[in-house]
Amino acid sequence: MSQHLLTVDSLQRESVDHLLRVAARMEPIASRRQVTRVLEGAVLGNLFFEASTRTRVSFNAAFCRLGGSVCDTTGFTFSSMAKGESLYDTSRVMSGYCDAIVMRHPDQGSVAEFAAATHVPVINGGDGPGEHPSQALLDLYTIDKEFYRLGKSLNGAHILLTGDLKYGRTVHSLIKLLSLYDPMRITLVSPPGLEMPSKLIDLVTSRGHRVEQRDSLASDFSDLDVVYTTRIQKERFTDEMNESFQGLSDDFMVNRDFLDQRCSQSTMVMHPLPRDSRPGANDLNVDLNGDSRLAIFRQTDNGIPMRMAIFATLLKVDDLIEKDLRPVHWFVPAQIGTLDR
Ligand code: ASP
Repeated sequence: MSQHLLTVDSLQRESVDHLLRVAARMEPIASRRQVTRVLEGAVLGNLFFEASTRTRVSFNAAFCRLGGSVCDTTGFTFSSMAKGESLYDTSRVMSGYCDAIVMRHPDQGSVAEFAAATHVPVINGGDGPGEHPSQALLDLYTIDKEFYRLGKSLNGAHILLTGDLKYGRTVHSLIKLLSLYDPMRITLVSPPGLEMPSKLIDLVTSRGHRVEQRDSLASDFSDLDVVYTTRIQKERFTDEMNESFQGLSDDFMVNRDFLDQRCSQSTMVMHPLPRDSRPGANDLNVDLNGDSRLAIFRQTDNGIPMRMAIFATLLKVDDLIEKDLRPVHWFVPAQIGTLDR
């Protein structure tokens, strides 16, 4: 694995498999049965210049669960970028304070520009419509775990990516990551104008995968293994698109009817979250809450072991974890969510 995690392009199949194995070793710590201090004394700089709940908090929690500490800043208003500071200067300054840096920024390519100024590991926490590599890794880790439980294999799997495939950075990273694996069938369904960039489709096809584009969910998906649905990224729309976009029609709605009538009992549902629950948004329906096929909260939980694995690998303590485990003494509920199944 290279020094930074900026894009899935820098990952080889072996480094992804390594991260999946290290994440599995982090499970007892992530699920609060054991503690480690392998990163005691290390400091993470968490720089988020765009809205975030999961990514920011889970990177923070993952670093703390490895024994490190976190300094963070959110939004441009309270950072020196509001005074015109360049990415280069910010990067060099932060690198003097921190042992690893996670950055989210609205401009595609900005995290790579930031990383070019430092030898301290930098992780892309999302660069505009570009990429979100740690999300793709935790998504793959989720698919791997769920498939293991269901006795399925990635080889020949049928995966549906739906929603905003143009601006959704998580699907950009995920489709590239999946393409490193054995041939599978990937179906893409998005509203007009929000299709997956053709260069990504070409890349995946050139690696031997079968990619099909459809214009609605109103067809047979009975052999579907995963439906991965995404939010419409309205914050990235041009003014013209904002005026013309009428909202997501029912043809794109992932809900209990879609799953019961068009998919199967073993189709799992994923979403990078947040889901837009405002009226008319037609994002992933809450009527699936409590259905065991809904994997979204298992998916968010998986963000912790995977992000721990990323830090441990980049900071080269991945081999020390087993030697540094102690039991947890505080109260931990047997089940985290009240509807968990
Ligand atoms: N949380 C994800 C991201 O930051 C997905 C989303 O915002 O819709 O890309």
